[in-house]
Amino acid sequence: MRASLEYAIKMFGEFNRTMFDNALPPLPIQLSNAGRSLGMFVHPRQRPQAGSPDTSGCSLRISTRLDLPEVDVENTIIHEMIHYYIWYFNIPDSSPHGPAFRRKMEEINRRHNRCISIRHKSSEEQLQSDTHHRNNYICVQYHTDGRRTLTVCSRPFIFDLHRILKDNPRFCRVEWYWSMDSWFNRFPLSRSAKMYLLSDADFNAHFATATPCECDGLTFNPRPRLRR
Ligand SMILES: [Zn+2]
Repeated sequence: MRASLEYAIKMFGEFNRTMFDNALPPLPIQLSNAGRSLGMFVHPRQRPQAGSPDTSGCSLRISTRLDLPEVDVENTIIHEMIHYYIWYFNIPDSSPHGPAFRRKMEEINRRHNRCISIRHKSSEEQLQSDTHHRNNYICVQYHTDGRRTLTVCSRPFIFDLHRILKDNPRFCRVEWYWSMDSWFNRFPLSRSAKMYLLSDADFNAHFATATPCECDGLTFNPRPRLRR
């Protein structure tokens, strides 16, 4: 399922009552098309005032990009509510998912028979439900040990990546492609040489329709098709 606004508001109310003693004031809930995170608790940079927290500027964003099992949508809402709870009560924690976050998460998992986690691992089927069309600038690295990897590069960082990879003795060669195939949406838009292993099957399935491109450090263009 993909959350509707009515659904998200209803579940917020229900979880607030059953898991948070109704302690969390209602806050705006927004649906988003975010690809990298299923949910997000947005809050002002400033820590809330003890005793009278100001929740203006706070909101909860739930992504409807992936078609998920209902329990995953529920767990996403609860996960973000724990962030809200930690922020609202100004509970000290060492990192966004530090010991205080985990304590609350494990308490809810135990009491309510849930399996909320720090990260959500999407299944292949769920990833395929992502049909958003993104411009993907893809760099394929052919390693000297025979492996093949890819980086989906953030547009403004193409030349930076080119500079890092060219003449690197780890690679026999690198190739550039452009594609709108939504299969590539599963990879983050990188600003650095973050490489993901690319199998032969995935290469054959998703690069046959990609446009080969050329990067010379100053220009980035589709490669002219060779006439035979
Ligand atoms: Zn989180």
